[in-house]
Amino acid sequence: MKKAERIQKLPPYLFAEIDRLKREVAARGADLIDLGIGDPDTPTPGHIVARLREAASDPANHRYPDYEGLLSFRQAAAAWMKGRYGVSVDPATEVVSLIGSKEGIANMAVAFVDPGDVVLVPDPGYPVYHIGTSFNGGTTYRMPLRRENGFLPDLGAIPDEVARRAKLLWLNYPNNPTAAVAPRSFFADAIRFAERHDVILCHDAAYAEIYFGERPPSILELPGGREVAIEFHSLSKTFNMTGWRVGFAAGHPELIAGLGQVKTNVDSGVFQAVQEAAIAALTGDPAGVDRLRALYRERRDVLVSGLESIGLACDLPGGTFYVWVPVPRGLTAAGLATRCLTEAHVVVTPGNGFGDAGEGYIRLTLCSERLREAVERLRGLRL
Ligand code: PLP
Repeated sequence: MKKAERIQKLPPYLFAEIDRLKREVAARGADLIDLGIGDPDTPTPGHIVARLREAASDPANHRYPDYEGLLSFRQAAAAWMKGRYGVSVDPATEVVSLIGSKEGIANMAVAFVDPGDVVLVPDPGYPVYHIGTSFNGGTTYRMPLRRENGFLPDLGAIPDEVARRAKLLWLNYPNNPTAAVAPRSFFADAIRFAERHDVILCHDAAYAEIYFGERPPSILELPGGREVAIEFHSLSKTFNMTGWRVGFAAGHPELIAGLGQVKTNVDSGVFQAVQEAAIAALTGDPAGVDRLRALYRERRDVLVSGLESIGLACDLPGGTFYVWVPVPRGLTAAGLATRCLTEAHVVVTPGNGFGDAGEGYIRLTLCSERLREAVERLRGLRL
């Protein structure tokens, strides 16, 4: 059966080989330490689970939800934006619920990308920016994130004719996979760029709450941000809710309405009981998120100093729960990832899976309690 061209045109899945090896090594009974997947290992806080339990038994929540989300959920999201960033968004027109931010990121292209449009995406980057674009006939222009630029794209290096055809610009800070954070001045430059070239600025803030220094800004709190931008928020990483599939987008009402128009045609929103639980998360005591941040900070310090002691020095992550580690000379990302897996039974992700500019790096997650043990195993590789 012939698949649609959009499927045939998907880029090769560069994690396939690692996935295959992982299954092979696990099948031999090896005790793997998995630092590959970015999925919190600690559970969703109890008060959120309790709220779901209660809301799930209410028959009012058993019916179709509205695609845009309960007004009370959008109000909670707006209040959270106000509390965290001092940004006032109208819950009725400037917030929409998402079935996880991934859904909104993919549907953004359905709403705004026509065949032939250019979308500016970070490289390395979360693959959905490219795939959403390609599924809708657009072309991506990859902006390399290089260490010497603090893993920020050089917007000034984008050729004028590319900028003229660009419809969307994707940014993501704190950044997956480089773990970099962006200064306010960079967001200000990005807003100017979007204004100048009439580009929609999409900020993926999935890791907004996982940071180790100053609180990263919302693009909407910067002057001009609300006129050009939409920001994607996720409850997945902030509240250990990856499996729950809930997030929201906030920003310019026309952008929210465009996304909403897609959603009303292709999905029927988030289970209302999950939205009720999400309200409990957003309005709950922020001390839980503070503790999570402290846990990742402690793990970050253990992993980074451990890696340094075995010849794998890297920059100290400013945010996210990833560590982005340069590969020693003479090895490729895939080569090192294969050795980590087959010789040390530690799963890591080769950086080129996030784009060509990720070659020369591997990504490790902090979502495991076994980081010291992982370092000791990797020591055996004698890199
Ligand atoms: N954006 C980035 C950069 C991510 O790494 C992820 C998940 O790993 C997402 C968005 C999607 O998160 P979710 O759909 O769980 O909200």
